[in-house]
Amino acid sequence: MDLKSAIRDVPDFPIKGIIFKDITTLLKNHEAFKETLDLLYDFSKNKGITKVVGIESRGFIFGGALAYKLNAGFVPIRKPGKLPSETLNESYELEYGTDSIEIHKDGVGAGDKVLLHDDLLATGGTMEAACKLIEKAGAEVSQISFLIELKFLNGRKKLNGYEIKSIIEY
Ligand code: AMP
Repeated sequence: MDLKSAIRDVPDFPIKGIIFKDITTLLKNHEAFKETLDLLYDFSKNKGITKVVGIESRGFIFGGALAYKLNAGFVPIRKPGKLPSETLNESYELEYGTDSIEIHKDGVGAGDKVLLHDDLLATGGTMEAACKLIEKAGAEVSQISFLIELKFLNGRKKLNGYEIKSIIEY
């Protein structure tokens, strides 16, 4: 099916000038959900992934489903102050503003082969920071996957050297 047609464009959200890619219209369509998960799974199967790390919050949805299918654990990367135990922190620039993200210190570690997953690649700042967090924790970033890639923002430039897959491109 045409997965692109399942994504809704919402102009001027969360601020004026941003066209927000709303994935809730894809998520509520069971055929689109299944096909998206199957494509993400095909990219990451047989790679020895031990942990799927999903980025708050929309990276948790397929991240959790992928962890189940890959027989891997799931580890969340969250906004500051959300994780209850000791954390590692990394700052980054967003398409709209700056922010930082955190992972539990014991979330991933030496010997882990990590699949990083998020819903959307824009400037790449978030995912670049996420890669730094995984590597700070002593684990290996094996693969990176996204539902959506905004190609015109060249986010991949920040992720040189990693194996990357996006399902829907603009
Ligand atoms: P970036 O760090 O610029 O690659 O931004 C990626 C993060 O910001 C992802 O977690 C996305 O969920 C969110 N994001 C950035 N731009 C958009 C957009 N146009 N539509 C939806 N989400 C976006």
